[in-house]
Amino acid sequence: MSKKFRVFATCDIGESIDLLRQRGYEVEVYPQPEAPPKKLIVDKVKSGIDGLITTLRDPIDAEVLEAGKGTLKVVAQIAVGFDNINRADANRYKVPFTHTADVLTEATAEFAFFMLGALARKLWTAEHLTRNNQWGYWHPYLPFLGDEVTGKTIAIIGTGRIGLAMIKKCTGFDMNMLCYDPAYQNHDYVKAIQEMKDLRHARGICREKTWIKYTTLEDALTGADFVSVHVPLLREGESTTPTYHLFNERTLRIMKPTAYLANTSRGPVVDEAALARALKEKWIAGAALDVYEKEPLPPDSPLRDPEIEDRCRLLPHFASAARITRLSTDPNKGMAGRCAQGLIDVLEGNYGGDVSKMPYVVNKEAFAK
Ligand code: NAD
Repeated sequence: MSKKFRVFATCDIGESIDLLRQRGYEVEVYPQPEAPPKKLIVDKVKSGIDGLITTLRDPIDAEVLEAGKGTLKVVAQIAVGFDNINRADANRYKVPFTHTADVLTEATAEFAFFMLGALARKLWTAEHLTRNNQWGYWHPYLPFLGDEVTGKTIAIIGTGRIGLAMIKKCTGFDMNMLCYDPAYQNHDYVKAIQEMKDLRHARGICREKTWIKYTTLEDALTGADFVSVHVPLLREGESTTPTYHLFNERTLRIMKPTAYLANTSRGPVVDEAALARALKEKWIAGAALDVYEKEPLPPDSPLRDPEIEDRCRLLPHFASAARITRLSTDPNKGMAGRCAQGLIDVLEGNYGGDVSKMPYVVNKEAFAK
């Protein structure tokens, strides 16, 4: 390597930082667990770094990119979602940015499934009962019952990488599935899942026949016992079918009053004020959230209302937070490894230096020849 690359990481991504240093890179890591102030990112970029490692907490926009004009060559994000990066600005400044799709797909899908199960079977409330010495008897239905997941109908909203992985998990629980995705429909995958379902039934593994199909948002929401959200955050103007507040008073009201909602996508996909009302007034049975309109969840959030505590599970943006998924240095296993590889690809000119051919670059359109 002829040049020693300079990189600033807004967070520690573990051993992958050491591996970059072993390649001769000069890497500075922001030492605090909290996000650095934006001004610090701008100053670091202005100092002439070649690469910037970011997380979903860092706003990357024209101000940051202007600071790196002529010097900043790549932004490598450790996450699959990149709504914190202004794609139009990155394209204007011709700065490629990378993400860590795929390696967190299974971890996020299984977490979404666990959240739904924990919510429906009231694991949190049940454990509190035990810990608080309120478990006084075994009774057929007292002090409360949960709802089974097995054999129920789930709506999968967004059938991209994580949505399809969620379908796979739900297949093991013999769930019927209503899929909704206005932009990408994988009919081959759905057909294969139906074949698996039919085989399970034919071989006596599952007693009832179960099914999967694509449908409209309305039919998915009105027909489902569970709703799991797997869409990117797309604001007005970013898509013909934006996802900002996709779950609002109207859509929450058309869900069954017995239905449960899980959101592991991005917080602003759900209108939290509407959801708090939906839970309080029992338009739906419960919700489990991993992501919020504002993170960390503010102390005065209506979602913290003790009145809805039994039916509102609140997790700290944790769906991809599994050891191998987060930190493996192997780009085919870990977000950290994939993030570092995305950075290396651009800085070291892999793929013949053709950014549009680099697998982890998101905004390939700005580099198409
Ligand atoms: P993906 O791009 O593969 O899939 C997203 C799907 O949503 C696409 O098929 C797209 O067509 C569809 N979509 C777009 N607009 C829609 C709409 N209005 N209604 C329904 N579907 C719509 O992305 P992915 O890898 O599956 O990840 C999905 C999102 O999950 C990410 O963008 C990220 O924000 C979030 N995520 C969160 C965590 C976490 O820790 N909680 C972890 C990973 C990903």
